[in-house]
Amino acid sequence: MNLETVKEQLREELARIEAREARLQRHLRSSPSPGPADWIDVSGLHTDDPVVERLEDSARARIIALRGAIERIEHNRFGRCEYCLDPIAPERLLAIPYTRVCARCAP
Ligand SMILES: [Zn+2]
Repeated sequence: MNLETVKEQLREELARIEAREARLQRHLRSSPSPGPADWIDVSGLHTDDPVVERLEDSARARIIALRGAIERIEHNRFGRCEYCLDPIAPERLLAIPYTRVCARCAP
């Protein structure tokens, strides 16, 4: 497994999620506009909407996980289980590159 490729993929995903998160934040901060076009755009995107809040939470969790994974690659700690310190199986890392634990220690 090429770590540089993995890191590149993680960076791309991080950039994508951060861009989406930034768009969502702008929607949340902007008060509902009287313009009909804007009204359509922000409909269903209000702060008290539990769906949006869940989306936000999962996006933030993902951003933190991705940043952590990139950092671990940069510090040569990538691919090692945080609990048992065994190497994480490559198949698992390819499926979930930002995982911190091996399949055995996964909750
Ligand atoms: Zn483990």
